Amino acid sequence: MGGVFLIFGFKSAEHRLGSHVRPCEVCGVTAGQVVIRRTTKFSLFFIPLFPVKPASYYVQCTNCGAARRTDRAVVAAR
Ligand SMILES: [Zn+2]
Repeated sequence: MGGVFLIFGFKSAEHRLGSHVRPCEVCGVTAGQVVIRRTTKFSLFFIPLFPVKPASYYVQCTNCGAARRTDRAVVAAR
């Protein structure tokens, strides 16, 4: 039986946009807060083709490691 195999999936990537020092609302310690941008793309034959949803942004505390969802406006205002 012949056929065409389609290999597809979703690929997530995280990019560190930068960090800034500010008080963490989780642990209360003034520490570096790393801004992370996560994108998820649909891939075909291991080639990422297009994003399946808008990028999401997270801020992760370097002291306690807690990651909080943030939005683009907060990232841009830093
Ligand atoms: Zn913290």
